[in-house]
Amino acid sequence: MSGVGRPIPRNSNEYLWVASVIRSVEKLSGTPSRWNGELHEELRANAVGSALDGGGMTVSVDNVLKPVAQAYTAGRPLTETELLELRDAVLTVVHEAYHLTHEFGDENTPGGAPAYSPDALVLEEGLTETWAHRNVDAVIQDIGLAQVQPELTGVVSFDSYPAYTAATDEVVRGAAEISGLSPSQVRTALEQADRTQRWAAVAAGQPATAAPQSDPRSVDGVSYQPCSASR
Ligand SMILES: [Zn+2]
Repeated sequence: MSGVGRPIPRNSNEYLWVASVIRSVEKLSGTPSRWNGELHEELRANAVGSALDGGGMTVSVDNVLKPVAQAYTAGRPLTETELLELRDAVLTVVHEAYHLTHEFGDENTPGGAPAYSPDALVLEEGLTETWAHRNVDAVIQDIGLAQVQPELTGVVSFDSYPAYTAATDEVVRGAAEISGLSPSQVRTALEQADRTQRWAAVAAGQPATAAPQSDPRSVDGVSYQPCSASR
């Protein structure tokens, strides 16, 4: 089912706020966004947002836009629970914005894999969720939200894709071990590769003769269920 609901008006505070997060993610990642300026309500009950293939974004009104509005309109420091909800809302937008900095590439080139094959999807969600958690405080500072709710930075938030991030960490660790590159070099190479070329990027870092201990694509065989609403 498509989760694309009503458009968020472009002159609304909500729209301008999301746009500021997208610009901040562009700046912090050093990568241009594919965002086409379209922002819609997310309608699926089990999802808080999504990045659309065509460059649009959806966000949940209840889980994202309301907590964000409250941060600015409450006129008081938020409670612990409200801070958690707010941080998760910011994480969702940072997550979707980071998806939009990734190019799809061409799955028909050598080493290419369909962007929506389960193994490519694991890497895309794993890389994206980890980047969002590592950079959310920088975004909160960058867009001025830290001045409004100073207690928001440093709050510990839930990982929406614990299995995906763990699997991605394993791929990064294994590829670093085999290639002699540092884990952060491998992660950067994966982040910068087109979505259809990620496994080719893993293989490119490895000596041609070295057989990996296990086929990295075996992550495909595991069933991944996000523990909370997907983004
Ligand atoms: Zn995602």
